Amino acid sequence: MAQAKTRTLRDDIDEILPGVVADRRDLHQHPELAFQEVRTAGIVADRLRALGVEDVRTGIAQTGVTGLIRGAQGDGKTVLLRADMDALPILEENEVDYVSQNPGVMHACGHDAHTAMLLGVTRLLLDRRDDFAGTVKVLFQPAEESPPGGAKPMIEAGVLEDPPVDAVFGIHVAQEHPVGEIRLRPGPAMAAADRFTIRIRGKGGHGARPQSTIDPIVIGAHIVTALQTLVSRSVDPTEEAVVTVGVFKAGEAFNVIPDTAELGGTVRTFTPENRDLLEERIGTLARGIAQAMGAEIDYAYTRGYPATVNDSEMTELVREEAAKVVGADHVVESPLIMGAEDFSYFLEARPGAFWFVGSKNPERGLVWGHHHPKFDLDEAAMAIGMESMASVALRYLSDEAGDGRREAADRV
Ligand SMILES: [Zn+2]
Ligand SMILES: [Zn+2]
Repeated sequence: MAQAKTRTLRDDIDEILPGVVADRRDLHQHPELAFQEVRTAGIVADRLRALGVEDVRTGIAQTGVTGLIRGAQGDGKTVLLRADMDALPILEENEVDYVSQNPGVMHACGHDAHTAMLLGVTRLLLDRRDDFAGTVKVLFQPAEESPPGGAKPMIEAGVLEDPPVDAVFGIHVAQEHPVGEIRLRPGPAMAAADRFTIRIRGKGGHGARPQSTIDPIVIGAHIVTALQTLVSRSVDPTEEAVVTVGVFKAGEAFNVIPDTAELGGTVRTFTPENRDLLEERIGTLARGIAQAMGAEIDYAYTRGYPATVNDSEMTELVREEAAKVVGADHVVESPLIMGAEDFSYFLEARPGAFWFVGSKNPERGLVWGHHHPKFDLDEAAMAIGMESMASVALRYLSDEAGDGRREAADRV
């Protein structure tokens, strides 16, 4: 790719796509679970060094890798591009020649494609180094699938500094949407995902002598029912939230009232206010009901990934670039997604955006969803993913707009 200036991104992608697909299939054959991405991270680091990426750092938050692509036109902004590397504990049921060679572990979410795509984007941007000022930081993170995840410890290890990162971008392939489509939305896009447990301490006894017991099953049933009022009566009806009780454990025998019962569930919210509200209200309701019925509770609320909130200006930038890649008709406003994603930590710390690249192809039978043992994607999506990501990085670095921190600094 000697004459990068006269060639379009798409010309170069056509040339490198077979290699990127081969990388993805190799990673697919050798999936690794959260924080065990040793082979994957090794391949990534070797490749970055071989390509000439500067300041390649490894072992960040165990297996994370970063590297820098410095534009030849001098100093400027720094943009971070992120891929996740981990697979899932799933036994693959596909019959393809690149099927997982690691039984019980599978790239069933497409993170193999994300890693291969970011390696491809690295090549594209290195070949265009003469055309931009500023720096691209490529980041490969461990353990997206395993809260508390790999993003938070990478940020704590300083990946947003040295050089300071101005904006962050990431993508996810999406089996819900056809290949050729890009989806995103400004503001809250994916939910915060938290969990809670309520242990009800009653008093057991004979099932025929309830008057001498404090029945934790009846109390638990009241609590489960009362929790249904939180979203309907406590949360603003124009906002979205979920409270689901997925665990109710109590009792062993039909004629025995047990001492204790345990409830567990998940909470999904899109704003810090609703998150705080539900954490407080679940505890207050459960404690009040238990007390009124003579029992006590142990309540634990554990916060998972926060909501993924896209910066509106950065979302608009992505939307414009995505329209050039797939056509404006194929850039669709994403609905709110109740699932969670730890790219949210990057977006809490810096402006940026996270978008979805459709990868479903019913004609080829590629219809199975994320985390399904038959998950597989149309690899044509990887060309779209690379073009959109490289375009967004180049556009961000060349734009005067979209750099609030720098503009504020210039005014001082
Ligand atoms: Zn996943
Ligand atoms: Zn995923």
